[in-house]
Amino acid sequence: MNRQEIIGLTGEFVRRGQGNSIAELDGMKIYEDKPLVAFASARDPLYAKLRDEGIIGPHHLMPQDWVENAKTVVVYFLPFTKEVIESNYPEGISSKEWYLSRYYGEDFNNAVRDHIAGVLQKAGHNAVAPSRSGKFEMQNVTSNWSERHSAYIAGMGSFCLSYSFISEKGCAGRYGTVVTDLEIEPSSRTKGLRDNCLYDAKGTCGLCISRCPAGAITPEKKDHWKCQEYLVTKVMAEYVPRFNVVAGGCGKCQTKVPCSRKKPTKSDL
Ligand code: SF4
Ligand code: SF4
Repeated sequence: MNRQEIIGLTGEFVRRGQGNSIAELDGMKIYEDKPLVAFASARDPLYAKLRDEGIIGPHHLMPQDWVENAKTVVVYFLPFTKEVIESNYPEGISSKEWYLSRYYGEDFNNAVRDHIAGVLQKAGHNAVAPSRSGKFEMQNVTSNWSERHSAYIAGMGSFCLSYSFISEKGCAGRYGTVVTDLEIEPSSRTKGLRDNCLYDAKGTCGLCISRCPAGAITPEKKDHWKCQEYLVTKVMAEYVPRFNVVAGGCGKCQTKVPCSRKKPTKSDL
């Protein structure tokens, strides 16, 4: 298999779209048809850096902890549709469209992860989607495998003030990864850690600060605990009794901001 085949099979699976919709909302589509796909070298020295305290920490596993002799990490981004994103424009708690997209969208994302890993395995390669493995675990607010950090290593974009990850198709969507022992030439990485964020790169914007109903984002940092507390006490308190599903992220910091659907420029302000 080669990179074009993996890009093609990922796009084809998303386009077929089985599960890429919400039955409770009259079949509303969750993700756009065209995902982004990139490749990180499993031997990239940045993976070892992620284990430093203050970055993620020693609990973050290396690609080789998921797949013996891992050579490549396949990374993709599924952008939410315009309808899902715009539903979350009003202030207050998340829209039901956003909340249910986070829940059913993760089911679909899991299907994409499984599909890529399954095709690679059928072709004779070892392949594991870490977040689908029994080894995957959370420690406080971070997990032992960060898909967004793999997106950075694969050159897909950069982090930002709200601690989202801004790709060429913005930050409103979901990332996925599959580790494999298939060798694929890595995508190029040209971005600094927060280059795509207008606040950091150009000293302007900061709209995610005022969008956050929890006050969790400041110019200095994002308070993950405040964000979590808001999610549990406000968003889940409203939607778990109504829909009986548990989903994360209120998403106000990813919607009605210039980085929602594209890499932002100053003229977007
Ligand atoms: S809203 Fe502005 S400051 Fe916040 S992450 Fe997006 S580009 Fe950066
Ligand atoms: S998800 Fe919601 S609560 Fe958390 S940082 Fe973003 S806007 Fe704030």
